[in-house]
Amino acid sequence: MFDHILVPIALDHGANTARAIEIALRLKKEGGRITALTVIEEVPPYISQYIPEGQMEKNLEEARAQLLAEIGGVAGVHADVVIGHPGISITEYAQNKGVDLIVIASHRPGLQDYFLGSTAARVVRHANCSVHVVR
Ligand code: ADP
Repeated sequence: MFDHILVPIALDHGANTARAIEIALRLKKEGGRITALTVIEEVPPYISQYIPEGQMEKNLEEARAQLLAEIGGVAGVHADVVIGHPGISITEYAQNKGVDLIVIASHRPGLQDYFLGSTAARVVRHANCSVHVVR
């Protein structure tokens, strides 16, 4: 049983979300918490100069609304969105926020041939806490 469970959610991986949240709810200690986290890809500096002012803030708000819709208001599940590189930001977030378990899907839906997707593989390799891979 775990105190703070992180469920990274890619907004285009729909089918994986409900299953990961369900597992997190079962593995959470009474009084523990769950954070659903979406990472928005960072824009490289050579492109960022062409992005209108305020656009990244708008993207963050949209992603947050999408994430909240995806997790469907399950009690005790909080939503957070950060900008970065998914494989790196997920493990950094876990370390900074005292996460003791990450529940992550093995790959995007429909790619059954892959053992682990690129983000899942990096999280498994680099996380300092336990990782539950949903297959
Ligand atoms: P693939 O390489 O097949 O796309 P990934 O390893 O990227 O597979 O995705 C597996 C899981 O990693 C996703 O279902 C999600 O849990 C997590 N993940 C991937 N990208 C993100 C992201 N941008 N934000 C949060 N979680 C992500």
